[in-house]
Amino acid sequence: MFINIHSHKFNGSADIVIYNKMLDNFKNSEELFSVGLHPWNIDETDIYLLNNLQNNLTKITFNKNTLAIGEIGLDKNIDTPISVQTKILQIQLEISEQLKLPVILHIVKSYSEIIKLRNLKKGKTKYIQPWIIHGFNKKYELVQQLIKSGFYISFGVSILNNLPHVEKSLIEVPNNKLFLETDESDVSIVDIYKKVAEIKRVSVDELQHIIYNNFKRVFSRYDG
Ligand SMILES: [Zn+2]
Repeated sequence: MFINIHSHKFNGSADIVIYNKMLDNFKNSEELFSVGLHPWNIDETDIYLLNNLQNNLTKITFNKNTLAIGEIGLDKNIDTPISVQTKILQIQLEISEQLKLPVILHIVKSYSEIIKLRNLKKGKTKYIQPWIIHGFNKKYELVQQLIKSGFYISFGVSILNNLPHVEKSLIEVPNNKLFLETDESDVSIVDIYKKVAEIKRVSVDELQHIIYNNFKRVFSRYDG
């Protein structure tokens, strides 16, 4: 079974796909999906959307096809101040905790911030739901830090580009923390499985088992 945990497009090659839906443009869905307010779509002038973020997001998640909150996150390449992004992110992280849903994260130049957030403690650990960094293409030193803080890591098309640092990162991720995705691309998830299996020196069959076990454990709302 091929599982694609993050796609914005119809992708026929996977057996299970989690489609990403944007909160600000949400239409009810028969497909499995993740939903959230992406940092790119934060409009500081849209007071209505911001004030109703918690209610709107919680309401959507009554749909049992909601498997995760996402993609949400922090992005230093955009103009929206990181303080505003953090506030919006934290509201959505709280919802993920209340509803016991995992989180799919979009992180750009904000890794130290997200690691700090994960390790926030108020008496006891604040956030316990699984957090998945999607579209990972950074160095293995960062993988080590993320794994230490309990993150899951999802690889996409960048693994097809023969980049030694990304391949090294993939090898560094423990089997029980790994996911695969196609994101915005038209690439088949099967090709990503094949390439990842080759780099990890396992069979595609073994890789399918690894990802399936992670999927069942992390996306616990899935009952298929
Ligand atoms: Zn995406």
